[in-house]
This record gives sequence, structure tokens and C-alpha cells, in this order.
Amino acid sequence: MGVADPLPGGAHDLEFNVHHAPLRIVIVGGGSAGWMCAAAAAQVLHPERYRLTLIESDDIGTVGVGEATLPALRDFNELLGLDEAQFMRETQGTFKLGIEFRDWDVPGSYIHPFGAFGELWGGVEFQHFWMRARRQGLNPPPLEEFSVAVRACRRNAFDFPSSSTVLSTFYGYAYHFDASLYADFLRRWSVARGVTRIEGQVVDVALDGAQGNIESLTLKSGQRIAGDFFIDCSGFRSLLLGDKLQVPWEDWSQWLPCDRAWAVPCERSADFTPYTRSTAKKGGWIWRIPLQHRTGNGHVFSTRYVSEDEARATLLGQLDARALGEPRLLKFRAGRRAQVWKRNCLALGLASGFLEPLESTSLFLIQKAIQDMLRLLPSPEARGVDERLVREFNRSSDALYERIRDFLILHYTANRRFGEPLWDHVRDYELPESLHHKLRLFDARGHVPYFKDGFFSRDSWLAVLFGQGLMPGAHDRLADCLPRELLDARLRELHSRVAAHAGAMPSHAELIARYCGEPPVTKQAMSS
Ligand SMILES: Cc1cc2nc3c(=O)[nH]c(=O)nc-3n(C[C@H](O)[C@H](O)[C@H](O)COP(=O)(O)OP(=O)(O)OC[C@H]3O[C@@H](n4cnc5c(N)ncnc54)[C@H](O)[C@@H]3O)c2cc1C
Repeated sequence: MGVADPLPGGAHDLEFNVHHAPLRIVIVGGGSAGWMCAAAAAQVLHPERYRLTLIESDDIGTVGVGEATLPALRDFNELLGLDEAQFMRETQGTFKLGIEFRDWDVPGSYIHPFGAFGELWGGVEFQHFWMRARRQGLNPPPLEEFSVAVRACRRNAFDFPSSSTVLSTFYGYAYHFDASLYADFLRRWSVARGVTRIEGQVVDVALDGAQGNIESLTLKSGQRIAGDFFIDCSGFRSLLLGDKLQVPWEDWSQWLPCDRAWAVPCERSADFTPYTRSTAKKGGWIWRIPLQHRTGNGHVFSTRYVSEDEARATLLGQLDARALGEPRLLKFRAGRRAQVWKRNCLALGLASGFLEPLESTSLFLIQKAIQDMLRLLPSPEARGVDERLVREFNRSSDALYERIRDFLILHYTANRRFGEPLWDHVRDYELPESLHHKLRLFDARGHVPYFKDGFFSRDSWLAVLFGQGLMPGAHDRLADCLPRELLDARLRELHSRVAAHAGAMPSHAELIARYCGEPPVTKQAMSS
């Protein structure tokens, strides 16, 4: 299969002359978090300097959901050296250009695309020209028609972005895939690269007397596994960081009140969208994720506003094809651990926190944490954890969690679904100060904060703000410099350029068939 060897180790080779016992890294949990971590660590860390062990329990199983991603996952695949078509065949993957939000504001839909609206003119953001054109009676087309990604979504079309495109045609893409096939794929990939997999249930965690570091784990079988660094990927139970090291949980359910989800796959339907769909309902929202072999569906809801039975019936009533099995109920709380890395233990995935999958952010948070961890991990020589690096890791993780939290809250608080208790509540509650500031900025002049690193980008904020019917009181006065006639002509030219670009794309179904057409290779062929 088309996977590369571990990265050529220039720096590794230098350090390699010094003989130290390898650093023993023990990962607890074999869901997406555990296997993503094992795969990346096996790719980046030299096998003679770091020994990787992963413990998972078939009796406990995994959460088994997590099928929509963000474009950053392509960087992760590149780090592993995966062949994209192969990866998509193995995981029954499809392409994703964004998320369609239905009925979040008033009946209707908008799309949050992975791409830009318009282009910068004279260094000024496009939305200001568009707002000015509206105010001055030029009747520009809706903002979404200036996004190639949105127009492609509206046509169920997909093509790969060309590296030579100008900003107006710029867009990115992500994937939908089968979560169980993904974990299985990474498991085989990692084991083939030297990760030791142990099947068993951890029943005890021992700390050393001196610093309170985790020293070893005991399995139900009695086997004891010692380590130097422990990665908690044990899911919602947070066995090491939460249970043993007693890192408290910060609860965010005052802003994100959904606490349950029903999940059920159904047969694949004709509507093969290159985007995830999220449809608002009385007590929450429903996701729809098209895969090659089936469609994933789920209803995220709050038990404060709708019963489990009612939510289950709402989900089953919304399927666009026959259900493949009984719906599964998942319970959760929005929030995060107060500290994601403590002493010699770091948590990833559900063990570190949970934000509902409205913007498909969990696998991204895992990926980002893995990349940061690989940068900051102790070396076999130093062994001990450097507290300065731990602080930096936790700072960066906190900032990302908070930005994503604010972005999710925006979807709720900017609704106009009057008369429904959940939606009335979230429209009126007190916002975190960080979000309050962003909304004031937008309202005053149509600006949104720009982040160099992390999520979400300016265009993402614009998609949701305008998509949910918010309109700023004023635009940037720099956009007034363009003469009115020229503004009109430019808008028309850009509009037809974007339409032509999206109009030339093949259908999503056609492209997937062409790109992933070959039958999946066998497990043996993959790991050879
Ligand atoms: C309803 C819902 C929908 C979601 N949708 C998306 C989405 O669209 N996109 C996205 O990015 N994310 C999504 N997520 C989040 C995503 O599913 C998770 O972030 C991802 O699957 C990682 O899970 P995990 O590996 O942390 O935990 P799990 O999958 O729960 O894995 C935990 C592992 O720990 C092991 N374990 C636990 N206890 C022990 C023990 N005592 N001994 C040994 N092993 C043990 C288990 O066996 C298992 O292998 C969703 C989550 C939910 C709840």
C-alpha cells in the first residue's frame, strides 16, 4: 500500500549515538484517539528511542462515532504518508466541502464552507464590499454565491482544488468516513510499524511515592505494565487523568445544554452530498453524513427539553433510507478537563473533554494535541517532564477549546426559532465574555477576529454570522474607496467566475467512483 517509511531521521541519527534506555510510552485506549496517537508517534519517534504500547479492551469497546472531519485531517494523513485514494477505500470515505445548516435560524439553509467568500480587494475583506453594495441598492447576489465551495455543495459536485487558483476560487476539503473502519485502519498501520498492542482491561493505576507520577498499570489478567509516559485515551471515563490524577472537569453545559445523542446508520441514498448536514429540531439537531456504503445519522439533543423516546422517534422519522440496525444512545456532557497534561500523563480525545459534534471538531482537537505533544514530549535523555513545556501545551489546548466552544455557542445563540424552549433559552443566556466581544466587533463594523493559528477562520465566522441572519450596523469605510460603477462591475465579474468554476466540477458520486473505484486491498497487502 502507498504508505511511506518513518520520516528520515536526520536529527534522530545524531542523538542516536548516545545510548539511553528507550522512553516507554503507554497509551490506554484504542478508539480513534488512541490509534491516531499510536500511528503518529510510530511515524515520528525513533523506535529505538521510544517504545510504544497501546492497551485496549474489546469488552469495553469504543464510542464508534466520529465520522465527519475538518480539512486539517489531510495534514495528518500527509504526516503518516497515506495514499488518499487508498485511505478512502479503506474507510469508505467521501469528500466534505462544508456543513449545511438547515432551519437553525428560520426555515431555510446556509452552508459553512471550507473556503473563502470572494477575495480581498485592495487588502479589504470582501464582505465589506458586499454589504456596501446592498446598502447602496446594487442588489448583489447572496454572499454564498461568491464561494466556490458553497456553489459546489449546492450542485452536489466536487473536484480537487487547483494549486494555481486565485483566492476567489480557493477552498479546502475534508472527509467523511466510517469511524470503526478508521480505527481499524490505523490499528493495522501502527502495529505494522512496531506498536505493541495489548488486549486487556486496566483495573489499577499505581503512582510513584515521590512525585505522584504514574508508574504502572495492572490489567484484569494480573499483567503489570510499567511506563515512563502515559497517554489517556480511555474515552469518557478518563481513567488516568480524571480518575487517578483527579484533574477536575470544567462543565460548559450552561452554554451547550445537549447531553445525549442517538446514532443510527441507514442505507445510502441518492442524495450523495459533498457536505455534512445539520438540521435543527425542537430539542437539538440531527446530523447526516454520507459515506460510500451507507449514511450516518444521529440526533444530538438535550434531555431538559425533549425525552429520549421523542428524540429517537424524531431521528427515525428523518432518515432518508432504511435504518441499518437499532439506534444507539450516547450520553455526554459539554466541557473539558481543567488541565489536559499533568505530570507524566496527557489525555487525548474524550478523556480530555467533549464538545458536541456540530462542527466536527473532536478529531481535529485530537490531531492538534498529538502534534503538540510530539513537539513537547520528554526525550529519553531528559526523561523527566519539563513543566514549562507542559504549561505551553495546556495554554494552547485551553485557547483552542475556548475558541471552538465560542463558535459552537454562536450557532445556538444566533437562532430565531421563537417559541421553542431550548431555542428561547440559548438565545437569551449570558455569553462568555470572549464571544460577547466578537459579536460586538461584528455588529459595529462587520469585522471578525483573525487567528493565525487554529480554528475557526474568519470566513467560517462570516458563514455562520451572515447565515443566521445577523447583519452589521456598518461596513469598513475603506470599502467606500472603490467607485460605485466599478464595484458593480467587479461583483458581476467575480460572481460569474465563481459560478463557472463550480459549474465545471463533476458530481461528487462520479468523482468518488472514479477516484476510489478499485476494490479495497486486503489487510495483508496493506500492512506489507
Ligand atoms: C454523538 C457523537 C458524535 C460524534 N461525531 C463526531 C464527528 O462527526 N467528528 C468528530 O471529529 N468527532 C466526533 N465525535 C467525537 C469522536 O467520536 C471522538 O472524539 C473520537 O471517537 C475519539 O474517541 P476516543 O478514542 O477518545 O474514545 P473511545 O472511542 O470511547 O475509546 C476509548 C478506548 O478506551 C478503552 N478503554 C476504556 N477503559 C479501558 C480500560 N479500563 N482498560 C483498557 N481500555 C479501556 C476502550 O476499550 C476504547 O478502546 C462524536 C462524539 C459523539 C459522542
